[in-house]
Amino acid sequence: MNRQEQISKLQATKEFDICIIGAGATGAGIALDATMRGLKVLLIDKGDFAGQTSSKSTKLIHGGVRYLEQAVKKLDWEQFKMVRKSLRERETLLKNAPHLTRPLALITPCFNLFEGIYYTIGMKMYEWISGSQSIAKSEWLSKKETLNFIPELKAKRLSSGVLYYDGQLDDARYCLAIVQSAEANGAVVLNHAEALKFSKNEDNGKLKSLNIKDLIVGNEFTINSRVFVNATGPFADSIRKMASSKLKPRIKVSRGAHVVLPREVMKGDTAILVPKTDDGRVIFMIPWQDQVLVGTTDEADELSENPKLEDYERTYLLEYVNRYFEKTVTLDQIKSGFAGLRPLLQAQLQTAMNSDTKSLVRDHEVEIDRRSKLVSIMGGKWTTYRLMAKDTLDEIYKEVLKKEIVKCTSEHQILHGGENYHFEDWQNLVYQYNISDWTAQHLVKKYGSKAKNVLQLTDNQKDLKELLNPEHPFIKAEVIYAIQEEMATTVDDVLERRLGLKLRDEVVSKAVEPYVQEVLMKNN
Ligand SMILES: Cc1cc2nc3c(=O)[nH]c(=O)nc-3n(C[C@H](O)[C@H](O)[C@H](O)COP(=O)(O)OP(=O)(O)OC[C@H]3O[C@@H](n4cnc5c(N)ncnc54)[C@H](O)[C@@H]3O)c2cc1C
Repeated sequence: MNRQEQISKLQATKEFDICIIGAGATGAGIALDATMRGLKVLLIDKGDFAGQTSSKSTKLIHGGVRYLEQAVKKLDWEQFKMVRKSLRERETLLKNAPHLTRPLALITPCFNLFEGIYYTIGMKMYEWISGSQSIAKSEWLSKKETLNFIPELKAKRLSSGVLYYDGQLDDARYCLAIVQSAEANGAVVLNHAEALKFSKNEDNGKLKSLNIKDLIVGNEFTINSRVFVNATGPFADSIRKMASSKLKPRIKVSRGAHVVLPREVMKGDTAILVPKTDDGRVIFMIPWQDQVLVGTTDEADELSENPKLEDYERTYLLEYVNRYFEKTVTLDQIKSGFAGLRPLLQAQLQTAMNSDTKSLVRDHEVEIDRRSKLVSIMGGKWTTYRLMAKDTLDEIYKEVLKKEIVKCTSEHQILHGGENYHFEDWQNLVYQYNISDWTAQHLVKKYGSKAKNVLQLTDNQKDLKELLNPEHPFIKAEVIYAIQEEMATTVDDVLERRLGLKLRDEVVSKAVEPYVQEVLMKNN
């Protein structure tokens, strides 16, 4: 994928069938699905692919244990169905990008007999609902067994643990893989391109074209399209307002923060689910690449471009880490952290018992504005991105194009890098390119079957095999690959989302910034 090439394609296209604004998980999913149904697609984002919420998630592919609890307590059939659907999607997400996902074992530590029974019943139900898509059997573990899985846990008050399974994904790269697959299928994709203003047909008020600005070069373009889709997540109201000033706001954002800790805090491969904090939240402590990810918080917030992790969030999350771990973890051990904004629908807010964002269902809705025909897809979660895309396109066929629905086939689409993927191939890379096991395994997990393409860059330039920093397995070739093949255009595109180094280790990431900046200048 090359940015200049995408701009040339955009300029050469008189009219798109569908122009999607927002290239997070939702917009990327719609782009891929639409190309598979034979539509001419443009996907734009004012920042990077997955630059907002879609790279700030807890990185779980899940049905939502907490939603199941709410469904049972409130006898809410809709919520129950949502959990079931998400669990089905869990299998699809795992299958379609095996290099970027993995099944994840989680344990809920229990402190008395009642908790043990309660969570065992809950997790058995979760497993039962997932049916044939169950990853593995949930189990009630003794105290000793629990400590075998997670020796770092405080043993004193622990009485038992409940083991269950969900999935984990590399969210930023998963979104990129969807975009790459859409592009390979014919979509034009452009990051750092902002939607500025719609033009409408004078007779019926339907959207006709969109002015966009290339924020890297500064050029403006006018895009003609039969359909415009608003997939801007937390920013959905601003695009709805751009299409029609009469539309009332629908989105409320809820803030979620995470901290990243060194692996020595929790060495094994099993995560911890804290099912209820003092203020009714759920917190996960998850082995994540070479680190441990802890989160998340959940509180109403104002819409902003780049929410930053705050000191009170660091303290809050560490307080829970220290309640569960024998060895005290201190603030200076935090390697990195990030915050994101969940796009929650207003209708859910009104129907919720109170306006507390923790009690809302993360479900989605497709809205078609009667006059402008702007299609807005709102709400949802990462796990259901493909279903959101399917629902959006089905509605577009029915309500905007007024045509028979072309069937969605994205369920079986293996994503970029997932084709012919075998983790064991890292051994061939070690042999062929004379690199360490550590780097080879890292490359295979990040790029899947395309890891070889990264290493081919070193054929004529051996120094590109050098590590960016001795503490991490990333090599210099990855920076060039990100720029030349993955449309990374800024330092953050490279370090935060293509490599993911900034989310793992802020100090090291800062130290390699000048190198990345230099490579960016040479390649632009
Ligand atoms: C803290 C947290 C933890 C979460 N954890 C999980 C989890 O573990 N599992 C799970 O399934 N879900 C999780 N979610 C939910 C999930 O991350 C989101 O539902 C999902 O990422 C939303 O994707 P999106 O594409 O709708 O929005 P976004 O990813 O925010 O994408 C919207 C895009 O629109 C672009 N945009 C906005 N305005 C314009 C414009 N004018 N022109 C062009 N582009 C524009 C933005 O730049 C942005 O990239 C979590 C969410 C949060 C906040």
